[in-house]
Amino acid sequence: MAEDQICTSWINGKPVAPSASTDYLPIIDPADETEVGRLAIADSDEVNLAVEAARASFDQGTWRHLGHEKRKQILHRFADLIDEHAEELVRLEVTHTGLPIHFVRQMHLPRAAENLRFFSEFVSQSPGQVYSQSDGYITHVVREPVGVCALIGPWNMPLGLSLMKVAASLAFGNSCVLKPSEFTPLSFGLLMELTNQAGLPPGVLNLVNGPGHITGQSLVSHPDVDVISFTGGTETGRRIGALAGGNLKAMSMELGGKSANIVFDDADLQAAVEGALIAAFANNGQACLAGSRLLLHERIADAFLADFVAKAEAIKIGDPKDNETRLGPLQSKRHMEHVLRYVDVAKCDGARILTGGGRAAGFENGYYINPIVAEVASNQARICQEEVFGPFVSVIRFKDLDEAVAIANESEFGLVGYVWTQDIGRAQSVSQRVKAGVMWVNTSMQRDLRAPFGGYKNSGIGREGGEACARLYSEEKTITYKIIPPRESA
Ligand code: NAD
Repeated sequence: MAEDQICTSWINGKPVAPSASTDYLPIIDPADETEVGRLAIADSDEVNLAVEAARASFDQGTWRHLGHEKRKQILHRFADLIDEHAEELVRLEVTHTGLPIHFVRQMHLPRAAENLRFFSEFVSQSPGQVYSQSDGYITHVVREPVGVCALIGPWNMPLGLSLMKVAASLAFGNSCVLKPSEFTPLSFGLLMELTNQAGLPPGVLNLVNGPGHITGQSLVSHPDVDVISFTGGTETGRRIGALAGGNLKAMSMELGGKSANIVFDDADLQAAVEGALIAAFANNGQACLAGSRLLLHERIADAFLADFVAKAEAIKIGDPKDNETRLGPLQSKRHMEHVLRYVDVAKCDGARILTGGGRAAGFENGYYINPIVAEVASNQARICQEEVFGPFVSVIRFKDLDEAVAIANESEFGLVGYVWTQDIGRAQSVSQRVKAGVMWVNTSMQRDLRAPFGGYKNSGIGREGGEACARLYSEEKTITYKIIPPRESA
């Protein structure tokens, strides 16, 4: 990759040339710490231009009035182009995230394209509402796009998560401004080129790059933005939510998690160990839906941990561009230091570090660490209450179902939960009692786009998914007609 790759904003279908006063951020490849490009920071003037472009395209109706069939064709073409350019996009995603190429190729990219197909089909298949019960009147309900959407994404799955927002907002006829994480902007320039090739009218999807406190802040406080869709950390969500609330903007917040993965003594232990490894370490453990608190029934805890720790130690750590790698470097130096600090925090709370705790051997450069498994006696320990967001799993033992549910719920978060048991009654009881937006029974991270995804408590506000996105990205309008007698024909 060219070292001088500059990631700029895209407004009205064109990249924005940086000016003499533009500030830059370096883009670092976490696998070898080299600078692989620079990000040109969009200031408030540039954000303003992007929002104006989105507003103009919306008001002129170049997209929302194009007709559903035509919009669907363009979104499908966009998805096909992502598939055609998948390898280039995969390479860029791996370079700025450090995520193993295997995951990015198998999961992130297919999902990015699938979002576009899913939402354009969803909109075309959605039934309407008609009410004819009032004598002399007929009422029907139509859905209209809301306007300009500000879409803000994190760094842990840049294209996949951003494309969820882009696909849903565009499918419902909105225009938008996308702001990816300042740490992972590399793949978005190519994505914008593909929107032009797909035939998306200029101004419908605009891109701004830059840090949250400059570019993000300007975007979410812009008066011409109608909807804010945010995925990121809980503290950032709180700040954006306060602003959005003050300006009465519609919003959805997909925030952090500290999800419980509960394994009962009657579980298929082999499946549960495999599932727990995925829940804890997939995506380098940098996943909002990670099963980062492992709750083990006391009767199987020792046997489970012996197998789990051995398998965690055997995970292939390495260059994320190598197809065999299953754990790559963490996304940044700062983030690696943040994750490693929790080893000391754990020790202060009396934790037993069962494996890991330092940088992985054999790497001269790059932010590689070994997977960490730490057992604590109390769920009050900070490693059970705070989101570490890395390959770090906190283990707690429980004696019965009530205790497992109580531990799972003793958290400010409530994104997802996992339960492993062969007793359907137990599975149902736990699924009903755990306060989380999604529960997985005897499986890990199985996402269905038709179903709502999102969190209870400090894990978010609102949901993403078919109907949930309809509520966020469209306004319902009720139209009532008086039934009138026909005019007499001449
Ligand atoms: P972050 O909150 O630091 O940043 C997310 C995005 O918000 C970035 O684009 C950032 O530039 C922007 N931002 C920051 N401050 C802003 C402000 N004041 N105004 C507007 N925008 C601002 O989060 P991150 O470190 O990029 O991502 C990791 C977090 O995301 C974790 O907490 C993780 O759990 C969460 N996450 C949640 C989900 C979910 O679906 N619930 C999915 C992925 C990640």
